Amino acid sequence: QTIGDFFDAMAARQGEREALVSAHQKRRYSYAALQAETNRLASALLRSGLAPGERVGIWSHNNAEWVLMQLATAKAGLILVNINPAYRTAELEYALNKVACRALVTMARFKTSDYLGMLRELAPEYAHAQPGQLASGRLPHLRSVVWIDEAAVGADEPGFQRFSDLIASGDAADPRVADVQKTLKASDPINIQFTSGTTGFPKGATLTHRNILNNGFFIGECMKLTPADRLCIPVPLYHCFGMVLGNLACLTHGSCIVYPNDGFDPITVLETVQAEKCTGLHGVPTMFIAELDHPRFAEFDMSSLRTGIMAGSPCPTEVMKRVVDQMHLREITIAYGMTETSPVSCQSSTDTPQDKRVSTVGTVQPHIEIKIVDPETGATVPRGTAGEFCTRGYCVMHGYWEDEARTHEAIDPEQWMHTGDMATMDDEGYVNIVGRIKDMVIRGGENIYPREIEEFLYRHPKVQDVQVVGLPDKKYGEELCAWIIIKPGQNATEDEVRDFCKGQIAHYKIPKYIRFVTGFPMTVTGKIQKFVIRDAMKQQLG
Ligand code: ATP
Ligand code: MG
Repeated sequence: QTIGDFFDAMAARQGEREALVSAHQKRRYSYAALQAETNRLASALLRSGLAPGERVGIWSHNNAEWVLMQLATAKAGLILVNINPAYRTAELEYALNKVACRALVTMARFKTSDYLGMLRELAPEYAHAQPGQLASGRLPHLRSVVWIDEAAVGADEPGFQRFSDLIASGDAADPRVADVQKTLKASDPINIQFTSGTTGFPKGATLTHRNILNNGFFIGECMKLTPADRLCIPVPLYHCFGMVLGNLACLTHGSCIVYPNDGFDPITVLETVQAEKCTGLHGVPTMFIAELDHPRFAEFDMSSLRTGIMAGSPCPTEVMKRVVDQMHLREITIAYGMTETSPVSCQSSTDTPQDKRVSTVGTVQPHIEIKIVDPETGATVPRGTAGEFCTRGYCVMHGYWEDEARTHEAIDPEQWMHTGDMATMDDEGYVNIVGRIKDMVIRGGENIYPREIEEFLYRHPKVQDVQVVGLPDKKYGEELCAWIIIKPGQNATEDEVRDFCKGQIAHYKIPKYIRFVTGFPMTVTGKIQKFVIRDAMKQQLG
């Protein structure tokens, strides 16, 4: 089955039940309405001259147009290319050209970001072009640009097409959409997602219907989603967390998608959960921390919440416990995955015992194989020993877009995806992610996983958030460095932190460098870029 087939069957069953609430746009769609709009948009995309297999980019924050594009491209056999709204001209140029995008759906402006201006910079002749004729020296493949936020662009702005005009040019009953849909196979690529760029330059992972439809379905199964569920999705859609763990988990279970905002803002999330009586809430750890620590947190009624997923980066047990106790998220799970594996390969189920749910990434997802191997020898390590996490099955990406060499580096001849993450598995099959191979610190011959020190420092009552990295050191090879955010209204000294560690963790695990900071360098998904912390420290220390 393809995403379009699955969605049509669900829409037929769900009819007038709510499918989507875009709270910040004040828009609501039933399953029937979402299906009709999707068909109309798929028809419009095909009528605009796009052919199945061609790439269409979306460069936008979360909104109704995003999910419409996700479903319509899947029906029209087009490959949707998720583009991070934080990208600027050089990154946009790279992404659009890398995969030869024919069309781009985008916002004109968002807060201080001038998307229109960036496109003009890349394609100055744009201002003179008619819709469908755009093509420039720096964006040779791009033919048309469609604006979502119509109010932000003057009606006389040349060269653009409004999203509402595009959709109006389609026909919800266009037989061509059904014809194309019939020719599509589950193994066809439908999506290119760029990895987060946590460790360097983002890579474009090509994913198929089978990859993400199955993954969304099994994620929803673990969460026990039903048509009664309403899932609040503040995580960005351009990333698999929003698009698969959010949108597809909901749409495969008849649940309702709720977008609180475009761009993250903790207060709007809390308001939306209360107003929409959400039963689920997703987030990366830093989002949950921002919500819990917001001075107005206690004003909001969170009692409708039941489930949700914390994922994307290490999820500290302390934060999980607070989320369960203070947000009522008694069935929240941690999921582990990566863009290249659609993304999730490990997750607890809502009925996993509480201690395992808050402290591990759960067990292997159905129909996926995992193994944990010695990164040097490739041999499977004993239970409880750390090794590289490898995964195989329907979830493994088609490959990096037109990058055979990198694809073969990541996926071995036996089809195992090597994740670059170090993990352990206990006797009951629960997996713990101990850190990225690249982040592991070797100090004087001792292997140290920064994650362990971070978990320990979180227990300090004044610590709000902490990141630990390794820095080059002449004597020991590497030394540890901790960046700490102190809770509002508190003060701490380096000695206080060191005294807290003494006698509790081995002396070589006590960070040599401690810095108090007000924030961490992050990707827009809220992932902390340790390489930026390392670079900043290297500069500081000369
Ligand atoms: P890049 O590959 O460009 O450096 P990235 O790896 O952060 O960026 P993603 O595919 O978005 O890009 O993230 C996947 C990674 O996130 C995993 O490989 C893992 O390191 C980390 N991760 C995801 N979920 C968890 C989790 N629950 N616990 C710990 N780490 C996690
Ligand atoms: Mg990665």
